[in-house]
Amino acid sequence: MSDGSRSIAVQKYGGTSVATPERIRAIADRVTACLPDNPRLVVVLSAMGKTTDGLVALAHEVAARPQGREMDLLLATGEQVSVSLLGLALQDKGVAAISLTAAQCGIRTDAAFNIARIESIDTRRILGELERDRVVIITGFQGVTDEQEVTTLGRGGSDITGAAVAAALGARVCEICTDVDGVLSADPNLVPHAQRWPAISYEEAIEMASSGAKVLHPRAAEVCMAYGIPIHVRSSFHSREGTWIVGSKDMVMEQAAVVGVSSDKKIAKVTLLDVPDRPGMAAHVFQDLAADDISVRLIIQSASSEGRGRITFVLDAEYAAGAESLVARWKADGVAAEGLIERDVAKISIVGSRLASTPGLAARMFSVLAREGINIDCISSSEMKVACVIGAEHVDRAVRAVHDEFFPPTAAPGAS
Ligand code: ADP
Ligand code: ASP
Ligand code: MG
Repeated sequence: MSDGSRSIAVQKYGGTSVATPERIRAIADRVTACLPDNPRLVVVLSAMGKTTDGLVALAHEVAARPQGREMDLLLATGEQVSVSLLGLALQDKGVAAISLTAAQCGIRTDAAFNIARIESIDTRRILGELERDRVVIITGFQGVTDEQEVTTLGRGGSDITGAAVAAALGARVCEICTDVDGVLSADPNLVPHAQRWPAISYEEAIEMASSGAKVLHPRAAEVCMAYGIPIHVRSSFHSREGTWIVGSKDMVMEQAAVVGVSSDKKIAKVTLLDVPDRPGMAAHVFQDLAADDISVRLIIQSASSEGRGRITFVLDAEYAAGAESLVARWKADGVAAEGLIERDVAKISIVGSRLASTPGLAARMFSVLAREGINIDCISSSEMKVACVIGAEHVDRAVRAVHDEFFPPTAAPGAS
């Protein structure tokens, strides 16, 4: 990494930010206005608006379970439209710009279609174009394998592209430009008075993102943390400061005990009943899940009675169908007498780096849920998070009530 490359800035714009031709022209104006301060600018784009959802729906019209190589080739087209349009809009303004697909700028991934991981980025093409004073515009969300197959990184994956490109270039900043003002204490669509944080740590961002705050992909925060690249999550609709995500040692103020209340409705819960109480049963279940690439978010094994036990786990809703086939196999193999899959559940989490060292926060969360008459199905906690699985129909109300407990509507930021 040369010293000069430190001056590179990467800006990623999400779907809402480039949803219409007017928005693409607005982003062209914004990029142009940034150039005097950021002459070496790389822009990563998502597909326009809900294009990717539209492509998924289209695939379901021709196949029952669209997946794999063909699906990725289809999904990757959305970003190709937005980058080329921004290239045209910038050129129309007289700004030198070039749009590139991830394949054209050397973003190599593994071959795990739909959930590929970036393995390397050959920065020569990008650096060459920057040398020629061009704005470089790159398709987010995708890559190419060594065999030239097009892959995608999973939904919301343009954030990962932005972070990985910023890391590979040793950029000064990775800006995540979106439709909200920054990272807030809750989703502002659920809690309109949620507060923006001027700065949070990478760890807090990762926990919030992985507990459902979709403003940033957790893998993007992980990549920037590993390479020490500051992230600036900000609105693409105005130029005010958003939220800086930096190392905890760079935080100026001590952070509040709770930085966010998040929810995730895209989960399912599996309960295995009457599991024989002998060594190896849990290993059997979780090895089978791992063999099918199903990752599990929360596990509870309850004390057994009369030689039988119960194993409960929570997974992403997209894995529920896979888990269903395994449950049938476990019943046939005698691993469990019965297996229940519940899809009408959701998770609510409170996140904060001082959660473990601040007594009483979990009790406050549980008391609010009790006051609201909401039953808690499972609880999990870690150093930075307390999460409860509850009925999906209650989760929006739960988020508002728990948020108001830690951030009373009139209080200043950091009041918890
Ligand atoms: P983009 O298309 O720019 O990638 P996303 O829709 O993926 O945008 O992410 C932005 C959305 O994240 C916001 O519109 C907001 O509804 C949601 N969100 C959820 N939790 C939070 C939070 N804690 N702070 C900010 N936004 C949040
Ligand atoms: N277009 C992709 C999606 O909708 C990637 C992204 O927007 O980050 O998931
Ligand atoms: Mg996103």
